[in-house]
Amino acid sequence: MNRLDSLSLTPIPPEDEALRAPVRAFLAEQLRHMPAVRRARSWSGHDAAFSRALAAQGWLGLTLPRDYGGGGRSPYARYVLVEELLNAGAPVGAHWIADRQSGPLILKYGTEAQKQRHIPAICRGESFFCIGMSEPGAGSDLASVRTRATRQADGSWRLSGQKIWTTNAHQSQFMIALVRTSGAPEDRHAGLSQLIVELGLPGITIRPITDLSGDRHFCEVFFDDVALDADALIGTEGQGWAQVTAELAYERSGPERLYSSMVLFDEWLHWVRTPQGRSDAAVQLAGHIAAQLAPLRAMSIAVTAKLAAGESPVVEAALVKDLGTGVEQAIPALIADDLASRPEDCEPPAELLRTLAYVTQVAPSFSLRGGTRDILRGMIARGLGLR
Ligand SMILES: Cc1cc2nc3c(=O)[nH]c(=O)nc-3n(C[C@H](O)[C@H](O)[C@H](O)COP(=O)(O)OP(=O)(O)OC[C@H]3O[C@@H](n4cnc5c(N)ncnc54)[C@H](O)[C@@H]3O)c2cc1C
Repeated sequence: MNRLDSLSLTPIPPEDEALRAPVRAFLAEQLRHMPAVRRARSWSGHDAAFSRALAAQGWLGLTLPRDYGGGGRSPYARYVLVEELLNAGAPVGAHWIADRQSGPLILKYGTEAQKQRHIPAICRGESFFCIGMSEPGAGSDLASVRTRATRQADGSWRLSGQKIWTTNAHQSQFMIALVRTSGAPEDRHAGLSQLIVELGLPGITIRPITDLSGDRHFCEVFFDDVALDADALIGTEGQGWAQVTAELAYERSGPERLYSSMVLFDEWLHWVRTPQGRSDAAVQLAGHIAAQLAPLRAMSIAVTAKLAAGESPVVEAALVKDLGTGVEQAIPALIADDLASRPEDCEPPAELLRTLAYVTQVAPSFSLRGGTRDILRGMIARGLGLR
């Protein structure tokens, strides 16, 4: 039973809840020597061996059809799995994007040949994907992408342009790129398409960018007249905007928008439970944080219920992401305030301080990745008919 379960409003079906115990046991074994500061990276932590160990359990592509090597399970089962992975701080970054959005996108829009080629490899933890949406000058304003693919007489493509902030491009085999295939950037949504780009092809240069914490997870990716086969196109030419909107609903709807500070919260709670760390103010703060997380978790499960019902809860996912990232970002500041208020001779554990320093440095990015707070609030206002 999860510690917040008694407060959930939409129940997780018992057959899916039953997955929690084996996943917890597996994670306790796999992560037993991993320090908190490394686990705090969680879905930013890249570990191909861990992803393959998860695949060997049948836990990659959990919602994808069995015919393609997936688990054939419901979105609730994936919720339970993902929640446990994030709570434990498992290094899931290698397979994260393929599992969360590229696999479902290929299932929805791909040809039979594309499904046969990519989905089983995703489920085995052999193919890792990255997201090629943002460009210099086209982040929030995604419709203005300039990277262009030109169709050749034989149906193949030539691709030129640049992507930026591409998480794990340097450690992925494929990118699903949003590119212009006709018209000009001023045409906005018209003329955009999605391509599956094999990242080892000639003409592709990938340069990792170092972030504030010293990690190198996102990259610049340059395409210099790259030759792509005709079957690089996924879905319908010119329908890239509609496809990418559906993809972003997968990207924004999961529990990862609540739990980015959970390893830090847990590490602090461990200390607060000891005689050295215990204080009335800390116990109150723990209750304050839990009281914010519990309703958000209930809302996040309610979004999962919509996914399970076959809906595309774009506005609801944006709302939970906006509220969730606010709490994720507040947690390191609240914990830092608690530590600062302690008497001078009270020394918190070094691992707690290291984890706090890391989460404090990366917390501003929680409300940028996957669409900024301002953009999400614009979508919510439009969804409520206020704009
Ligand atoms: C950790 C991390 C990982 C990422 N991974 C990926 C990835 O794998 N693939 C990928 O494609 N991208 C990725 N991104 C990029 C991310 O999606 C963009 O940073 C984000 O969409 C914002 O775009 P931008 O950086 O160009 O900022 P801008 O769009 O220039 O925005 C700058 C500021 O202006 C505000 N703003 C912009 N337009 C409006 C408006 N219309 N109304 C009100 N305010 C506005 C924004 O909210 C923001 O505060 C990642 C980013 C981060 C931080």
